Amino acid sequence: MSNNWQQQLQQALTNQHDKPLNQHPAFSDAANELFTHAITAEIRDVIDIHNPQDPVLRQFLPTADETIELQHFNSDPVGDEAATQIPGLIHKYHGRVLLIASGSCAVNCRYCFRRHFPYSQSFAPRNRWRASIDYIAQHPEIHEVILSGGDPLTQETKTLAQLTRNLTKITHVKTLRIHSRIPVVLSQRIDHEFMQWAEPLRLKKVMVLHVNHANELTTKAQNAIKKLKQSGFTLLNQSVLLKGVNDEVEVLAELSKKLFENNVLPYYLHQFDPVQNATHFMIEETTAKEIHQQLQAQLPGYLVPKLVKEIAGEKHKINL
Ligand code: SF4
Repeated sequence: MSNNWQQQLQQALTNQHDKPLNQHPAFSDAANELFTHAITAEIRDVIDIHNPQDPVLRQFLPTADETIELQHFNSDPVGDEAATQIPGLIHKYHGRVLLIASGSCAVNCRYCFRRHFPYSQSFAPRNRWRASIDYIAQHPEIHEVILSGGDPLTQETKTLAQLTRNLTKITHVKTLRIHSRIPVVLSQRIDHEFMQWAEPLRLKKVMVLHVNHANELTTKAQNAIKKLKQSGFTLLNQSVLLKGVNDEVEVLAELSKKLFENNVLPYYLHQFDPVQNATHFMIEETTAKEIHQQLQAQLPGYLVPKLVKEIAGEKHKINL
């Protein structure tokens, strides 16, 4: 791995940087065995390690809470398995498909609804994209391709370029959407090579970032977001409503304002997907609605993300 961002990614995945979380007193080996922890040095830098309630720490530290299993929580809360048409391609909603473009992320968020996803069998690496491309070509109603994962930006730019060379040949595909946490946790990934690839694409480009708390929008992250804007991306953000992270109206309002300062529109606020081993992040739906109503009373409509939940088998997300 030659690029700096790739070295940083490798260090994050192996926790080989100088600030891993495994020395933290609340670090749980049992939880780490269930889902290995990973964090970049860059996002680790914003954590106040002496504050156990730090909202960024809570997102990445494996704790004993994860060993609790409850009824009504499961390993596939949004029905990915049933919607997988071919390995690596999920077709749930009309007009768009989701490609599992990578099996890894730069950080492992403890609440991730795909923490149990069988990536080793199901992501779409380069040599399996052929089947996905053929599927998309055979479905003229598909106008949007969403790259997800894992985090698609863990892939090298030349791999993304190979995919888009194929996608752009399919005339009914108009939009490329990328779901990524990387611009805020590994900002160097948005480098010159990435911009050179993205800028001239004929497809409309949408990047849906994933930021849960304003503390994550560091100066480095803001610079990466600026580069995405310069490259022609429409920028949106999705957050997950998480107990002890962002379940207060002031926290969400601050996040919306800071996103907007950086030309990012708040898009979705997800009601927590009931994924097993992350039950301690759950907010009751009635509480979620109350928080959202208070947010509506504080902010102009365009800064209020839609409060949604995903129900396996439904044809669209449900507004709460
Ligand atoms: S970056 Fe996204 S896919 Fe990866 S662990 Fe976090 S929430 Fe899950």
